[in-house]
Amino acid sequence: MIATHNKGKLREIEELVAPFGVDVVSASALSLPEPEETGMSFDANAELKARAAADGAKLPALADDSGIVVQALNGAPGIYSARWAGPGRDFSVAMTRVERELAGNSDRRAYFVAVLALAWPGGAIETWRGEVHGTLVWPPRGGNGFGYDPMFMPDGETMTYGEMSAAEKNRTNHRARAFEKFREAVLE
Ligand code: IMP
Repeated sequence: MIATHNKGKLREIEELVAPFGVDVVSASALSLPEPEETGMSFDANAELKARAAADGAKLPALADDSGIVVQALNGAPGIYSARWAGPGRDFSVAMTRVERELAGNSDRRAYFVAVLALAWPGGAIETWRGEVHGTLVWPPRGGNGFGYDPMFMPDGETMTYGEMSAAEKNRTNHRARAFEKFREAVLE
């Protein structure tokens, strides 16, 4: 089971898992409650989501906690990336806030982090981490992807994640990198 209520993440994780013939079902499809993300790190939040889903559904659960870390903002929004979009989850609000807080700072480096946690009902838990480093552009570019994608350009690319197709984004992205480690450890 994929312990997420986020449709963008669900789509990406489903695409990553598809070649392995594993049936997946999302936490929202099972009507599991969304636990509060009270952890102080990506690892802690991924673990608490996977644990709650595994114990709630009595199934192995894979959860992702992710976000964008902006160097010049001392790591913000980091684990608060979703919350910066406000209750309406409007990411143009979140991106505008990042740009406003950068306030002309010439250091526009940022990276996405994804931590995947796999929890077994009542049992073990394991985590894997992936990162992708890049630069923030303004104004945002492209309507693909989700979240902060339109303002993030990975190193070595000329397009933002908002301009790339899902396949192009999955070649480099943080979730795919964490998934690669998970795949080596669990699926092969
Ligand atoms: P959480 O893991 O549910 O706390 O949410 C993390 C938030 O980070 C998401 O809602 C997005 O705003 C942002 N985020 C995580 N991964 C990505 C990505 O691949 N692209 C754009 N934004 C992302």
